[in-house]
Amino acid sequence: MTSGRRIVLTVFMLALCGTGASAETTVLRVGKLVSGVGPAVAHAVVVVDGERITAVGDDKTAIPAGAHVVDLSRFTLIPGLIDLHTHITYVWDRTPGSRPNSQPARPTAVTVFMAQDNARKTLEAGVTTIRDLGSQDYADIAMRTLINRGLMVGPRMFVAGYGLSITRGTPRPGAASGGRADGVDDVMRVARAQIGAGADWVKMFGSTGSFQDVTGFQTFTYDEMKAAVTVAHQLGKPIAIHSYGPSGARDAVRAGVDSLEHAVDIDDDTLALMVKQGTVYVPTVDHNRYYADNAADYGWSPAQVEALNAFVQRNFETLKRAFKAGVKIGLGSDAVYSGFGQNTRELGWFVKAGMTPAQALAAATTTSAALLRQDKNLGRIAPGYYADLVAVEGDPLEDINVAINNVRWVMKNGTTVVDKTKTSSPTDSSPQPRKKF
Ligand SMILES: [Zn+2]
Repeated sequence: MTSGRRIVLTVFMLALCGTGASAETTVLRVGKLVSGVGPAVAHAVVVVDGERITAVGDDKTAIPAGAHVVDLSRFTLIPGLIDLHTHITYVWDRTPGSRPNSQPARPTAVTVFMAQDNARKTLEAGVTTIRDLGSQDYADIAMRTLINRGLMVGPRMFVAGYGLSITRGTPRPGAASGGRADGVDDVMRVARAQIGAGADWVKMFGSTGSFQDVTGFQTFTYDEMKAAVTVAHQLGKPIAIHSYGPSGARDAVRAGVDSLEHAVDIDDDTLALMVKQGTVYVPTVDHNRYYADNAADYGWSPAQVEALNAFVQRNFETLKRAFKAGVKIGLGSDAVYSGFGQNTRELGWFVKAGMTPAQALAAATTTSAALLRQDKNLGRIAPGYYADLVAVEGDPLEDINVAINNVRWVMKNGTTVVDKTKTSSPTDSSPQPRKKF
């Protein structure tokens, strides 16, 4: 037995030697435990008290009297996954004749209510925490508040308010006039306004490129990026910069950004600087795959689909180079509209790019938790951490598709939010059909 294991079991014994189970104690019996700390453990027991994990041990340990026992012995338990790049308030009401990114106007309150569907699909994918990078009218802040108060079921949210963007012809969703900024002073004012409104992160659109547009022209200058980074860090907030192209990526990294989103063709010097600074790369390879697959809903042409697929390949090649160079990689889906539920498909790209399944899971757990400054709360199954837990059918360390397709049960903050354990058969590892919206 390793000393780490002994400590874990000691903590477990201490927990059991107390006055017995509280009314809120839940004991999970799991077939296999992938905790994010050390190797996988067979036949483990996880004790949850309230919203936190209090103990992790093996199945020879006695169950506290009066505890609620959940039998997950057919499943592997992994930490709740973290999606570092979503737009959960982008909902498509499917008004006849509308497109996801071209819908009749509606009140923000309606949008927030409708976004519950995205929240549910996100949890069903095993994602218990999201970093939402751009919304309008602070719908993201409203949602975060409702979820934190227990009035809405959804993932933990870290939000950015309006993404900062330069003046351009067509306002983009998530960066409409509320995020408009030109020049250093304006950037500082608008970044402060987002933090003042309650944003956890600052988001900046450092290049063109979104939806069917795969151009990567740098928008903000280095000085503007530096101003945004300085303002965010002075107020104790991290910052994410979007860049499709390499020049915006280079300037964002030089400016000291915490995470770089999307970029392709990142030059070697920039990759080296990312390693040195610990900058996290969130490649979001799968999101243009999603756009290509759903081009009919968006009304895009075959030529546009071709451009999207070409960008996916460049993005994937850049991911491979970044991983090989030792850059920290984080999982982000960039999910919008009908993309929720597909949040973790990015894991498949990670393994294809050369990661082991364990490294891919780390990109969605420990690396992401550290970026969110929640490495003592999220991303692991260990005493003291939030009880954000996912039971999957099969072994995700053997086949990453198990984590993508076989989520059967999800606990967030100590509460069971998804339970499909009764409907799956032990031999069936095919994806569960999803309920229609
Ligand atoms: Zn995005």
